[in-house]
Amino acid sequence: MPHNKTPQQIWDSLKEGNKRFTGEAAEHPHSSMKRLQELQSGQEPIAVILSCSDSRAPVEYIFDTGFGDLFVVRTAGETVAPAVFGSIEFAVKNLDVGLIIVLGHESCGAVSAAIKAVDHAEVPVDSQRVLVEKIIPSVLQSRVKGGTDPAAIEAEHASITADQIIHRLSVVGDRLEMGEIGVVAAHYRLSDGQVESVRTWGVS
Ligand SMILES: [Zn+2]
Repeated sequence: MPHNKTPQQIWDSLKEGNKRFTGEAAEHPHSSMKRLQELQSGQEPIAVILSCSDSRAPVEYIFDTGFGDLFVVRTAGETVAPAVFGSIEFAVKNLDVGLIIVLGHESCGAVSAAIKAVDHAEVPVDSQRVLVEKIIPSVLQSRVKGGTDPAAIEAEHASITADQIIHRLSVVGDRLEMGEIGVVAAHYRLSDGQVESVRTWGVS
């Protein structure tokens, strides 16, 4: 395990960081040139985070972290694709991260585009179509469970995406069983900056 930290300790430290951020008490750790220079020989991030590309969701700020702390993959609507799975697998296998977070967020444009596609058959014909195609199943699954408002669908989408990572990357399933990694699906609120866990595996 990296840094001798358990998945739970990593998750707790990131929750603490989010608390500092929302409480206007961010410490902006590990943000100096000195820290960057110390990392020249290699990186040992504690977690890999798949989040939305939305400019209001800068992951390092949200968790009050800095250089070398987080391995971050961002796509619109935190949608998965082969390169995304490959990036996450690299972080798990080669960097030994102890935690995977899939971070959805409030007022996600990609999720609302998928809702529009379902409700009004407005399906993009350009390159953005792929985003909608990847999110539509989350809209449908959320509604079957009774989650109909955008926030519920955003949360369900993060949860389903985390589930896909666990099932498609055998190394994640194996390490979960060994207690060497944790997985968290979470929802970040733009209104107050808070990250709320939606579903967790191996951590609480
Ligand atoms: Zn978004």
